[in-house]
Amino acid sequence: MHGLIMDFQLNIPAMLRRAEQLHFDRELVSRRPDESIDRYTYGDMIPRAKRLAVALQKLGLKEGDRAATFCWNHSQHLEAYMAIPCAGGVLHTLNLRLHEKDLEYIASHAGDKIAIVDDVLWDLFDKFRAGSGIEHVIVVRSTDKPLPPGTIDYEELLADANEADFEYLDIDERAAATMCYTSGTTGKPKGVLATHRAVVLHSMASAMTDTLGLSERDTVMAVVPMFHANAWGMPFTCMLIGAKQVFPGPHLDPPHLLDLLASEKVTVTGGVPTIWLGMLQILDENAGKYDLSSLRAVVTGGSAAPLSMIEGFAERHGLLMLHSWGMTELCPVGTVGTVPHRLLDKPKKEQYAFQAKQGRPCPMVEIRARNENGIVPWDGQSMGELEVRGPWIASGYYNRPDAATSFTDDGWFRTGDIVAIDEFGCLHLQDRAKDVIKSGGEWISSVALENALMGHPAVAEAAVICAQHPKWAERPLAIVVLKKGKKASSEELIDFLRPQFAKWWLPDAVEFADAIPRTSAGKFLKTALRDKYGDYYTRQETAQA
Ligand code: ADP
Repeated sequence: MHGLIMDFQLNIPAMLRRAEQLHFDRELVSRRPDESIDRYTYGDMIPRAKRLAVALQKLGLKEGDRAATFCWNHSQHLEAYMAIPCAGGVLHTLNLRLHEKDLEYIASHAGDKIAIVDDVLWDLFDKFRAGSGIEHVIVVRSTDKPLPPGTIDYEELLADANEADFEYLDIDERAAATMCYTSGTTGKPKGVLATHRAVVLHSMASAMTDTLGLSERDTVMAVVPMFHANAWGMPFTCMLIGAKQVFPGPHLDPPHLLDLLASEKVTVTGGVPTIWLGMLQILDENAGKYDLSSLRAVVTGGSAAPLSMIEGFAERHGLLMLHSWGMTELCPVGTVGTVPHRLLDKPKKEQYAFQAKQGRPCPMVEIRARNENGIVPWDGQSMGELEVRGPWIASGYYNRPDAATSFTDDGWFRTGDIVAIDEFGCLHLQDRAKDVIKSGGEWISSVALENALMGHPAVAEAAVICAQHPKWAERPLAIVVLKKGKKASSEELIDFLRPQFAKWWLPDAVEFADAIPRTSAGKFLKTALRDKYGDYYTRQETAQA
């Protein structure tokens, strides 16, 4: 048909071109391994990204080829984020917290040709390099360590490339731009290929006021690693809108992060709840030490945010938490919990309770939940497996025909998360399908129990798992880490839960531990807890017999 709108390609080169024309004076700040601070601007970064793109093409990177990164969050990593897709390649961020066996599997399954690696991570990289099939290794140097043999120095590579050779490619928006593997919390890692179009639309939707509400005037610090779910897409979103970015490098402990939040006047930051739980404790212990008056939103996601943490940040430190749910398969943001107008004149408690849920779908993301009786009503009670669809949601996994069961016949992605959806369309995540506890035929939410336990003043962290039970098949068991110097008995903690839950939901026992094992993304590693405590009740039964 004639007279239609242009078929303009939504691609990363268009994002880079916009940043080059408009955002040249915005700063990019990185903390280096030696703790020093490095700063330059988009205007300095973009010519370097262009030279990197030229150099990668000279090394043989062709359209659709995968180039990996194995780096902390810093400005060269951002250069690679731009250069690889702009050179026609696919940016494949390798998760440096995975086991070397998984990394070897992932890099060879992805067919990575080139890798950009931090020198401080060399020893880790070297463990899986030989079996990975990677042909060229480029090393970003931040120490005096000699260049490993057979590798290329990042700065020398850039120095040899000519910016004038860079060409803005008109890449088809349906071509792959990025690749991330799920971290395999629930099985062998699977690769998700995001298209240029998905990255651009995800960036636009993330920036919207009712999503993360980001603008050119913001200073954004992604604490979530650029090697996990692309730091929730924040580097791309900031690039599109021209926000100042702060990269914490390898220093992810609360005092270093607090120092950057205050000194760089960060306005929006994002990370997993374990980071914020640690930070809340430091803030509580050091009232008034850090000036966080610029900070207007702390985005939390990746696992459930306890109500007590959301309340603690708001009431004691005046800080707003934005709770988001997402997955690698969604590029990754799916929902965000901005409080809807209907709740604005309700008591604060009600608003916090809303914020502790996982939020409402971003524009263009559609949700539904299904159980054995079909699609569940949005009544806030009925539980089912969450299914989603939208323009930045995977339609399959890279070279994994065996994973087709993750998609419904009518093309929705089955998330494996068990949720209830309320009348606002707000998700309330109950469990991962693999963690859910079925006692006497009824579902119990481990997430609800652990979040309530973390509201007890003596509890630092709590995880609730499903343990086999001789009578009820499965029963909840709580594993609790107490705060330093605090005491609480098993009975006291169960009594604390009693007013909040039905009797049959209460864990039959609480085990105390020094720490809870974590996944590469800082989430509780429930598979390890189940290995250790899964037979807790049956063991007790045998001991008593
Ligand atoms: P992995 O599957 O390896 O953990 P992802 O980062 O893709 O990697 O994790 C996605 C999963 O994390 C979701 O399916 C969900 O179970 C959990 N998750 C993400 N955000 C939240 C949240 N806000 N609350 C509870 N769980 C969450």
